[in-house]
Amino acid sequence: MQPEQLFGMALGITPPWEVKEISFSPESKRLDISIDFQKGAQFPCPVCGKLSPVHDTTEKEWRHLNFFQYEAYLKARVPRVQCPDADCGVKQISVPWARSGSGFTLLFEALVMTMARDMPVNVIARLLTVNDKRLWRIITAYVDAARSREDFSSVTHLGIDETSIRKGHNYLSFFFDLTRRKLLFGTEGKDHSTIERFVSDLKAHGGEPEQITDAAIDMSKAFIKGVKDQLPHAVITFDKFHLIKLMNDALAKVRAEEARLFPEFLKQSRYLFLKNPEDLRPEEQDHLDRMIQHQCHKSIEAYIHKLNLQNVYFARNKAEAAGLLQQWHKQAATSTLALMQKMARTVKEHWDGILSHFDNRLTTGFLEGINSLIQSAKARARGYRNPKNMITVAYLIAGKLSLIGTAINPREMTKNLLGRSWR
Ligand SMILES: [Zn+2]
Repeated sequence: MQPEQLFGMALGITPPWEVKEISFSPESKRLDISIDFQKGAQFPCPVCGKLSPVHDTTEKEWRHLNFFQYEAYLKARVPRVQCPDADCGVKQISVPWARSGSGFTLLFEALVMTMARDMPVNVIARLLTVNDKRLWRIITAYVDAARSREDFSSVTHLGIDETSIRKGHNYLSFFFDLTRRKLLFGTEGKDHSTIERFVSDLKAHGGEPEQITDAAIDMSKAFIKGVKDQLPHAVITFDKFHLIKLMNDALAKVRAEEARLFPEFLKQSRYLFLKNPEDLRPEEQDHLDRMIQHQCHKSIEAYIHKLNLQNVYFARNKAEAAGLLQQWHKQAATSTLALMQKMARTVKEHWDGILSHFDNRLTTGFLEGINSLIQSAKARARGYRNPKNMITVAYLIAGKLSLIGTAINPREMTKNLLGRSWR
């Protein structure tokens, strides 16, 4: 068997296409695989499917998987066909080894998509010696194609979360299906218009705003307004994760203020206050005891308010939770700490939404998990603070997208071609 035939099999090239020539240049570190179609070959018209003769051709080149340390390229003259049907006219055909318009083979793109699930894009760019902008184009094309087939018609429980790309700047809002635990939609901003954009995306995927029965959000006025305006049947739940985070932020401020008075005791206690007493290591327990003995009263008081607020979520039912929240509120509202009074006011203003957690526990804990997904999306898009890229990576990581039925399913493609070539 000639190397050309062998490469033809390995690449899955079938008639009328054939591998014509392999040229290998150790100096330029490349392997060029020339593909051509058999003389007199006809191709289906891309519009109507009728077999059509070749009208003319254009030379094209695609980057393929490396051949050991050598960059490999496929080259071919790609025909335009003259369809017998005059309505179709002259049309460019697509080749079986690449998406139309792409400068990469499907196998190369399959490798990129597989790597993109687990690696930052700049690392992939370096490993594959491809310009990162071209990689982003591949990833975006596959993610967009997969998303276009998504069906949102059965989404009922929505979770909304926001994150900043840089600390305090460039906000993104993410919309999750809490039942299927997947990312539905990401968009720039954190105002109420993000919800309008979500609703039009929902409609574009076969959904209706009326079908959303529950929305778990943080206590931002913008999200509250957006949900009330755009999702008429959604009961708002203020997520536990967000409420406790708000409480932790208030506690951190109290601690930071008091640390100026008692630096010797409160130094390096930030993480300690994020933990529950039962999770403290022995040395942390000692540290906490020292703080109690040395009258770091404000921090300790705020810590107790935090623990009591967390306790509300251990209630067995809504009535019990309401009782515990009432108790908590009374204590926090009468605290001498302004930040705790403020927290008490916030809780009062969002009372029903906090307690509706107990009508519907679907949301519990999920948004917390999402936060870590979003963090890994940020890491994956490291060096690319472009919001669009961040959203694309988030879809890839958290969208549970099915790449099957895209121009190509990378995993299937790899399996098929490898199976065919080495069997
Ligand atoms: Zn035609």
